Amino acid sequence: MDNAKLAELLFPDVKVTPDYYENKFPHRNLPGKAQVTRMAPSPTGFIHLGNLYSALADERIAHRNGGVFYLRIEDTDEKRKVDGAVDTIINVLRYFDIEFDEGAGFPEDAPQNLYGPYFQRQRVEIYHTYAKDLVERGLAYPCFCTENELEQIRLKQEADKVLTGYYGAYAHCRNLTYEDIKARLDAGETYVLRLRSQGSPDREITFTDSIMGEIKLPENIHDIVLLKRDGVPTYHFAHAVDDHLMRTTTVIRGGEWLASVPTHYELFHVLGFKMPAYGHTAHLMKFDEETGGKRKLSKRKDPELSLDYYRRDGYHPKAMKVYLLTLLNSNFEEWYEKFPDKDINEFPFSIEKMSQSGALFDKDKLHNICKNELAKLSEYEMYDLLHEWAVENEPDKAGIWFADKEKLLAVLRLYMGIGMKRRRKDFVYARQIFELTGYFFGTKDAQASEAFRTDARITGQILEEYLETYDHNADNSQWFDNLKAIAAKFGFAADMKAYKANPDDYKGSISDVAEMVRIAVTGRANTPDLWSIIHIIGEQDMRSKINDAISSLRHI
Ligand code: GLU
Repeated sequence: MDNAKLAELLFPDVKVTPDYYENKFPHRNLPGKAQVTRMAPSPTGFIHLGNLYSALADERIAHRNGGVFYLRIEDTDEKRKVDGAVDTIINVLRYFDIEFDEGAGFPEDAPQNLYGPYFQRQRVEIYHTYAKDLVERGLAYPCFCTENELEQIRLKQEADKVLTGYYGAYAHCRNLTYEDIKARLDAGETYVLRLRSQGSPDREITFTDSIMGEIKLPENIHDIVLLKRDGVPTYHFAHAVDDHLMRTTTVIRGGEWLASVPTHYELFHVLGFKMPAYGHTAHLMKFDEETGGKRKLSKRKDPELSLDYYRRDGYHPKAMKVYLLTLLNSNFEEWYEKFPDKDINEFPFSIEKMSQSGALFDKDKLHNICKNELAKLSEYEMYDLLHEWAVENEPDKAGIWFADKEKLLAVLRLYMGIGMKRRRKDFVYARQIFELTGYFFGTKDAQASEAFRTDARITGQILEEYLETYDHNADNSQWFDNLKAIAAKFGFAADMKAYKANPDDYKGSISDVAEMVRIAVTGRANTPDLWSIIHIIGEQDMRSKINDAISSLRHI
């Protein structure tokens, strides 16, 4: 067969050879160990924690020593494409403080975008150039098999009890003559372009995965599809061409691609490309209460897999990043404990320390990290963070929360323990913060109302007495002395020690009395200093809250 003639028949429009692109996209001029990584999402609009996990690894690997991290959009599957998905990806990653150096999202003529286009659909000419070259070298051929024929092949293979797929003697179109092909094209038949695999089932490939270590897999023997009927490449072919021409040195991608390495190995080989280093990431897992074991985080069952979930609830991006780094590198946590105030980008990230088995996603741990990170902020930083979140996510309530700046700052100071010996760690994420402090603002969230634990009649009487004797000018300790006096009057121990020694002598203690006032004012049994709360809320508001509580107690 005259392969050159066939190549010309299939790709008459391709006028250049691979050399053209090899020269157009030369090796990157980067310092010694610098690595080039990329994120290569399909624009489906759904971006999840696993994507952020890999993106952070890619970003760290590139940026720890002067490399490049770029964004390529793998939009070859028209059906799965969603409008606006590229902006979503860029915005979400930017929110988590992960920035690309080049690629999709930058203007086409941006000076750093030297290896584009970065949308696969705009690269069809490039793929066709390499495809034509493979045909010319006898390494690819057109296949006209219909779905039905492929199905027949599969059934035959099942009956023969052999591996299913398009390979060897089962690859019907492997040995078509030029004349056959020409006739079928003239008859208007469409084709896919397939690799003429050189692999053998008796041989293995051995390669070192940067995360998983040494791996042996059987060679690829399948005549895989390189170009689909519409001339658009498959993931496999586009991956090889793009990562080669964009001069990617390190591919970090989901573990689901590990089984494709033999295919990629062969593709890089026949195309004459040097393979990048691969690192296949472990799946994010979750503890499953039902089974008591681990399972993969699932899009359907676990809302916390979606990154939107964290934005909507206002998780601090830095806390998310710290958490993901603890999952990504086993030694990060220790490093961060040692240097809590260092820029986390100074951490010496290493691929070798990435988890080989599924990293366990643990929300409690994430929340602890959130608490610690938020405890590092000033009340002003917290104010700005909350403001930004509220304007975007709760615009209707933002007006109420932010009407009185000094008041909100006072609430934040109190809840964050600013000026105290140790900072408080009540705050986890923005939505939770407003739920916790909603009673200051009379918003719906304030309705969280814990039940009084003491008898309703006595509680009502105590609260009435409290209002009668209340003096807004009393300082914290005078105020508390008054509370003690009320306690004593109603048969509650004013002194905790006395109460503990003889609990049966009393109806309860000062702490029960304080709790009554606390619940009446805040709806909660646990809060920071109650006197301070009352002085932020103001006397009038306090009185009306307590009166509400008294009247609701009358109905019990
Ligand atoms: N487009 C592929 C995906 O979204 C990318 C895999 C890769 O990173 O190579 O799964």
